[in-house]
This record gives sequence, structure tokens and C-alpha cells, in this order.
Amino acid sequence: MNVVVEVVDLKKKFGSIEALKGISFEIEKGEIFGLIGPNGAGKTTTLRIISTLLKPDSGTVRVFGYDVEKEPQEIRKLISYLPEEAGAYRELTGLGYLKFVARFFAKNDNEFERMIEDGIQIANLKDRLRSKVATYSKGMTRRLLIARTLMVKPKLAILDEPTSGLDVLNAREVRLIIKRFVEGGGTVLLSSHNMLEVESLCDRIALISNGEIVEAGKPEELKKKYSASNIEEVFAEVVRCSGTC
Ligand code: ATP
Repeated sequence: MNVVVEVVDLKKKFGSIEALKGISFEIEKGEIFGLIGPNGAGKTTTLRIISTLLKPDSGTVRVFGYDVEKEPQEIRKLISYLPEEAGAYRELTGLGYLKFVARFFAKNDNEFERMIEDGIQIANLKDRLRSKVATYSKGMTRRLLIARTLMVKPKLAILDEPTSGLDVLNAREVRLIIKRFVEGGGTVLLSSHNMLEVESLCDRIALISNGEIVEAGKPEELKKKYSASNIEEVFAEVVRCSGTC
């Protein structure tokens, strides 16, 4: 099966706020797919629905062919979700935290050891892995959480703003980690409001604004279509044109 995520006419309201107004998109196996848009556009809501943490009001969402409402347990076995504002257990050391998570997921000792090795490599916190999470900077905590999300080798990693709070070098390193994860056979859905960074990272993107997907495609194709030099310009042009051009 090549389609990993299938979203059709997805709607979600919070009271009177229409967070998602009927969005549709597909993600294929082996892709890095970026949901890109400004604050409040509906990115986190979409990611949480696909992760089975939030129920849709209407529409269809399938992950590996499983329906998010009817078969959430099957989906949870195949995905790993990195929330935007996640924290780790502050009283554990970074290494203790990775071990704590690996114990839940590993089916045997070998797999446990492999997960910890991968986690240590991805987190790349060196000696600080033995310090308490409470002493970590925001960027260090983020790296630990990315390590936790990817070391369990999910079939689909759902990453909400994976590079938020990271400095330029750490953000670059995390982008490389994401690429390596996909080269190893995984698929990634990520969100970002950093339109420039997604160009080098994502195979395809969907631009979301005000609960609607206003444009989607490969970054290179979109830049060509709008004669833009970057995705930020594409977004500005799409939003400017909506309803008037
Ligand atoms: P950001 O980049 O700021 O994280 P986002 O694109 O992820 O934004 P969402 O968090 O999906 O946006 O929010 C979409 C809309 O839904 C916003 O107007 C937000 O205020 C609203 N919203 C999201 N969650 C809730 C909630 N639990 N209760 C009420 N409104 C909510």
C-alpha cells in the first residue's frame, strides 16, 4: 500500500471556531509531507486528529487504511507523535527517560538495546544525557523528545513543529535526522510555520490558512507556478490571490 495517510473533507469546530473547514490530502509511503501555515491555521488540529488524539466532526481520515474513529488502536501501533509543547519527565535523566520509553515499546532485550542506541545517537546530548531533564534547555529537551519519537521506528512519524526552539545548527541537525529516518523506510508528516526551512526538507507540502488548504504540491513546482523565489512568497501570493485573482 502506497497511501499512508488519506484525509477527505475533514472538518473540526471548537465551539464557534471552525478550525478545519473541509481539508483533503494524501501522504505516500516514504514522503516527508509538510503542513505549512501561520499560527492558528489548523496544523496542530489536523495532526492531533491523524494521531487519533482528537475526534473529527466529519470527513474521513485513514492511516495505513485504518479509520481514525473505528480503528484507533491499530493506528497507534504504527505511529509516533511529537506534540508541539511536549515535556519529558523532569526528574529522570535524559538516558533514564529514553529507557523508560523503550521499555514500553521494545518486544525483547535486543530491541530495547537497539532503541537506546538509536535514541542516544539521535539526541546527541553526550554527557548531558546523564543529567536530569529539569536542567535541560528548551532545545536539549526538544532533541530528547525527537529521539524518543524516532527511536521506536514508527512507520509514520507525526512531528508538530520539530525544530521549534532550536538554534540554527540544531535545527539543521534535526532536519538531517528526519531525512535519515525516511531513508530508513519511514514516512513523516510534519507541521511548520517556518516556510523557508520546509523547502529543503519536504517532498511535498500543503499550505494551510484559516482551516483550509489553499495550495499543495512539491516546493519546486509551487515556486515555478507562482514565479516565486521561496515558499514564503508562494504563500503570500496564494493568500493575496484567494478570491480575487
Ligand atoms: P500554531 O502554529 O499557532 O500552533 P496551528 O496551525 O497549529 O497554530 P491549531 O492549534 O490547529 O492551529 O488551531 C486552529 C484553530 O482552532 C485556532 O483558532 C485555535 O484557537 C483553535 N483551537 C485549537 N484547539 C482548540 C481548543 N482545544 N479549544 C478551542 N479552540 C481551539
